[in-house]
Amino acid sequence: MKNGVRVRFAPSPTGFLHIGNARIALCNKLFALKHDGVYVLRIEDTDVARLDPAAEEAIREDLRWLGLTWDEGPAGEGAHGPYRQSERTKIYYEHAERLKEQGGAYLCYCTPEELAQMREQLLARGQTPRYVGTCRGLSSAQAQELEASGRKPSLRFAVPEGATVVRDIIHGKKVFENKSMGDFVIMRSDGRPAYNFAAVVDDALMGITHVIRGEDHLPNTPRQVLLYEALGFTLPDFAHLPLLVAPDGERLSKRYGAVSVRAYREEGFLPQAVVNYLALLGGGTAGGEEIMSWEGMVRRFSLEGIARSPAAFDPGKLRWLNRGHLHTMRGEDILFYARPFLAGFLREGTDEGWLVKVLNAVKENVETLAEINRYIPIFLPDGFSLDAEARTILTADDALAAVKALKEIVAGMAEVTEDNFTEIVAALKKHTGLKGKQLFAPLRAALTGTMTGPELHKVLPVLGKQIIIERLAQALK
Ligand code: GLU
Repeated sequence: MKNGVRVRFAPSPTGFLHIGNARIALCNKLFALKHDGVYVLRIEDTDVARLDPAAEEAIREDLRWLGLTWDEGPAGEGAHGPYRQSERTKIYYEHAERLKEQGGAYLCYCTPEELAQMREQLLARGQTPRYVGTCRGLSSAQAQELEASGRKPSLRFAVPEGATVVRDIIHGKKVFENKSMGDFVIMRSDGRPAYNFAAVVDDALMGITHVIRGEDHLPNTPRQVLLYEALGFTLPDFAHLPLLVAPDGERLSKRYGAVSVRAYREEGFLPQAVVNYLALLGGGTAGGEEIMSWEGMVRRFSLEGIARSPAAFDPGKLRWLNRGHLHTMRGEDILFYARPFLAGFLREGTDEGWLVKVLNAVKENVETLAEINRYIPIFLPDGFSLDAEARTILTADDALAAVKALKEIVAGMAEVTEDNFTEIVAALKKHTGLKGKQLFAPLRAALTGTMTGPELHKVLPVLGKQIIIERLAQALK
């Protein structure tokens, strides 16, 4: 049973999904899940100059990848559509007309040049630029004359006197002087709606109960509150999330690393880790454990718990979380996400069961999916080679004894499994009298060719008896 909570994520398709916007989408999704509500995806594609035709699909793909799937959205999902603003022009027009007929909006014939001049004059007087209401009292004769001169009107909202209160779940009560707004445009002269108007009409008609979005929209909110009132719509609750900033407090930009979700995906981050990190940022999810499942994130999430100060995005912390998620994931699941990174190893006839074992063996040695590649050659019969450090280690005095002993022990066993590794170690110690590094360094060198990487007890069972004996024999030479 849905209890009526309806939220929306409303991206403008101008490029790849920004990591900060992904956080906004996540907060909406978590809120919907927490309250058994509906999460709507709306595409705000009215700013034609900034549109990128490929961006909508790219954003949807990234949202799906993150697990931020929507209940209603532009591909025919849901009964409150269309969910693309470009397909709702008629709806905006009807509500704009209604407002105009009520006297709440008026046609404005000012040209861009005149508006620029107005702006300069106000600035010169030390005042905030705003529309001063030139066309507010036009008679129909004046309007006709301007129309006849070829001017195309926009529609402006007649801002009432007084002050507007915005109650925000995160920021508390904020009071805005209406004077400072000026009568703002709600329908442009080319027939497209302005953002504030389209957002209000859509949020109201789509039954949105909680508007959760970035703090950069807080200054728009009093305008929207006035529009809700003028149009006779019920006000939703508002929650404006503090923006993400770079670790030094500056705007999050490419200078600090990737800013798009796609870039993190391509660098080998797991969607679970990205979402987990975004949920931790700013404290929306209170409480101890840092590695969280969806269930944990939903349980801990609350809008009230979100800090008012900007949240610093730390790519190092994200790496740490990615590593944590990789450690706890099953090889099968890692393979699902790692495929694009394993192209070179996923040939026709690759034994995926074997690959899963490899992933289980190396998952604790990598921070990203992209790093897995580095360790796969260890497990390939034809990809193996000794690096310089491994060669040096194999020339040490005791190396020969250790390698020989392991070869004999393994030769006498039916198979090598993770379970009989302890047995192997005990036998090795007994035969050689060696222990610790003296014993294991040469074995690691001989079997993996490198001194960093997966642990021996994980490597041996994946290599299997035959390859182990071959490598040890090769080392003895
Ligand atoms: N299209 C707006 C943006 O991407 C959304 C604003 C809103 O959520 O109201 O910033």
